[in-house]
Amino acid sequence: MPEINNVIIIGSGPAGYTAAIYAARANLKPILVSGFQPGGQLTITTDVENYPGYEDPIQGPWLMEQMQKQAVHVGTEIINSQVTEVFLNEDVKKLNLDNGETLSTKTVIISTGAQARWLGLENESKFQGHGLSACATCDGFFFKDKEVAVIGGGNSAAEEALFLTKFVTKVYLIHRRDKLRADKILQDRLKENLKIEFIWNSEVTKLNGNNDLESIDLLNKKDNKTSNLKIDGVFIAIGHDPATNLFKGQLKMDDGGYIITDPDSTKTSIDGVFAAGDVKDKIYRQAVTAAGMGCMAALEVEKYLD
Ligand code: NAP
Repeated sequence: MPEINNVIIIGSGPAGYTAAIYAARANLKPILVSGFQPGGQLTITTDVENYPGYEDPIQGPWLMEQMQKQAVHVGTEIINSQVTEVFLNEDVKKLNLDNGETLSTKTVIISTGAQARWLGLENESKFQGHGLSACATCDGFFFKDKEVAVIGGGNSAAEEALFLTKFVTKVYLIHRRDKLRADKILQDRLKENLKIEFIWNSEVTKLNGNNDLESIDLLNKKDNKTSNLKIDGVFIAIGHDPATNLFKGQLKMDDGGYIITDPDSTKTSIDGVFAAGDVKDKIYRQAVTAAGMGCMAALEVEKYLD
């Protein structure tokens, strides 16, 4: 008979590791399946200055390494693999992994996070890594003394644009409306930065170049005119999609694909299955809120098993 585990945690961001720390300390012997990007979105950021407990800015990858070590230290087993299929509807849930293993468990905590959204233009995949990126902190360094564009009007776009000014000579911030949704403090920083120029009411309609991206076509939605902008790099910062494909058809989700949980709870539509972090949260999406939800999920698992 295969071993039936108490709890399996899918995903290794702040939600997953926090759930693991609490579950391990409750003697539940959790298993955490880390996925293909261990550490999640914080591994592709640099300075973090809003995670409580640190006077000076810390590095995202370092923070995730610490969480991973803490989870292991208190008794979590980590499997560096990807979950390929889940069967959640029975009392004993089954998870298939890409290493060929099948895990059985009484409860599951889903903390698979979210992924960057792309524009969906022709040639987008061709230019990824050749001038097109969704992560300024990962790729900004490659654009030293060049001109780049950031697409989007939220906090991510604002932060990416500001970060890029450390390397580049110019950043065009291209937004489809004439108003940013980024926080006021970030908007002020953008306006004060002489390297940043706004292009309002505009959408990218085409990516041009041979091997590398050389220019983009823009459509101004106010006057319907098209223009061409020569550019060395483009950073897409238009939000994220929750990583929930694995659970479609089994768990209740909203129109955006976010897992629906009970109010003030991480309980999903299936008994024994809990969801924490960006996979169920489209409002706050912070490391600290994800960690808080991971804690909630582990406590709810403990209560459910009792
Ligand atoms: P977001 O807030 O959803 O903003 C996405 C932006 O991209 C919006 O301005 C949107 O335009 C634009 N957009 C969406 N689809 C587009 C498309 N197909 N073409 C062109 N533009 C498109 O996403 P985010 O900036 O990634 O932030 C996500 C969440 O994380 C937010 O809650 C944010 O506050 C949070 N966050 C916080 C921090 C921080 O506190 N330091 C940093 C980063 C992110 P419209 O405005 O027209 O909709």
